[in-house]
Amino acid sequence: MMTCRFEPLDIETVGQRLGRIAAVADRVGPIASDWRVREIGDGNLNLVFVVSGPVGSVVVKQALPYVRLVGESWPLPLKRSFFEYHALIRQERRAGAGTVPSVLHFDERQALLVMEFLSPHVILRRALIDGRQLPRIGRDLGLFTARTLFRGSDFSMPARERKTDLALFADNAELCDITESLVFTDPYFDAALNRHTTPELDGLVRELRADRDLKIEAQRLKQLFTAKAETLLHGDLHTGSVMVTEGDTRVIDPEFAVYGPIAFDIGMLLANFWMSFFAQPGHETGDDREAMRAYLLGVIDEIWATFREEFARLWHSERHGILYPRSLFEDQGDSLGSEQALNGVLADIWVDLLGFAGVEIHRRILGLAHNADFETIADPARRASCERPALRFGRQIAVGRNRLHSIDEVNALAVLIS
Ligand code: ADP
Ligand code: MG
Ligand code: MG
Ligand code: MG
Repeated sequence: MMTCRFEPLDIETVGQRLGRIAAVADRVGPIASDWRVREIGDGNLNLVFVVSGPVGSVVVKQALPYVRLVGESWPLPLKRSFFEYHALIRQERRAGAGTVPSVLHFDERQALLVMEFLSPHVILRRALIDGRQLPRIGRDLGLFTARTLFRGSDFSMPARERKTDLALFADNAELCDITESLVFTDPYFDAALNRHTTPELDGLVRELRADRDLKIEAQRLKQLFTAKAETLLHGDLHTGSVMVTEGDTRVIDPEFAVYGPIAFDIGMLLANFWMSFFAQPGHETGDDREAMRAYLLGVIDEIWATFREEFARLWHSERHGILYPRSLFEDQGDSLGSEQALNGVLADIWVDLLGFAGVEIHRRILGLAHNADFETIADPARRASCERPALRFGRQIAVGRNRLHSIDEVNALAVLIS
């Protein structure tokens, strides 16, 4: 039975705590004492359990009142679970069933979400480290971003509904603060929790922290992130927030959901593919990763091409919000005006996504939260030889974002620098 005050779950108490919830018992089995529980959380913030029984399995995710990675010295509100729940149900509605794990139960007081157990899915980042080429992710992630980002914006939503949603997610201020500090500021000075591969990267790190143009650009991007409340973002859309099989792609873990610029989610996502590209030589064990690297650049190209194509389709078919009304364009027979406006919107997204991608790469190598792509390269010299070109690439795309006009150019830059 659910207690009223917040109590963290543990393996022993899950059955007793969730046994009477029909949505759980229906999926797992009627007798809670038959359930098997194991903890699978590998994330930085929360508890995650798989509960299995004679009928099937579910995942139980519970927030803790602090950051799991750091401990009780870094408090973090439980309500992030509320935002994860509200983001998941919106994403499912906007991107379609089967794009996120479906939610089976939510308990706000216990900060606890019960959801579909994705199996035999694995975390995309792991698959890419292992050199696996997933055939569907480019298209699936292009569609997911276009549909969630377009349909959560003033291009599509009734104005009142969007503003109500904006207010709801504005309360996710503490997680937003993590992004604001960890992504846009901390990498560029000697912040207490930062780390990097040392001494190998020391020289380059000094150079980047003294780079005035880069620091100004990072703060301009931060201002965009805080001020451009354009759509409901996933907020943490990296390759560790995607679970895959050969035939299925699911986006998980939207607890950082907040209104922000469309370009943020796409930039963060593409940055994680570029980082995988730079990390590949660090994972070669006799095998040749050239084909894998070409595959990754192809995925980046496909995500952006699919995003644009789907965004354009929605622009023509679902532009019912307050922006660029049809009364000014199509209704006057001015389809050229509508095309020009669409191209302008996409051009802005493009320039900004390069900026967000650049700072995302920096913070994963210089900040608190590193990623397994580089971290699992055990030898520091080898790791640094992958991280160094990634840092240089991040600097070039962040500062030079107005001078890069296509994915082909940016991918060519990645090849040139690596
Ligand atoms: P955190 O917010 O702490 O990062 P995540 O939501 O990313 O937590 O979950 C942590 C891990 O638990 C994931 O990396 C994944 O391995 C596993 N996981 C999370 N949700 C599911 C799910 N619905 N099905 C299967 N595994 C899951
Ligand atoms: Mg996670
Ligand atoms: Mg994780
Ligand atoms: Mg998370």
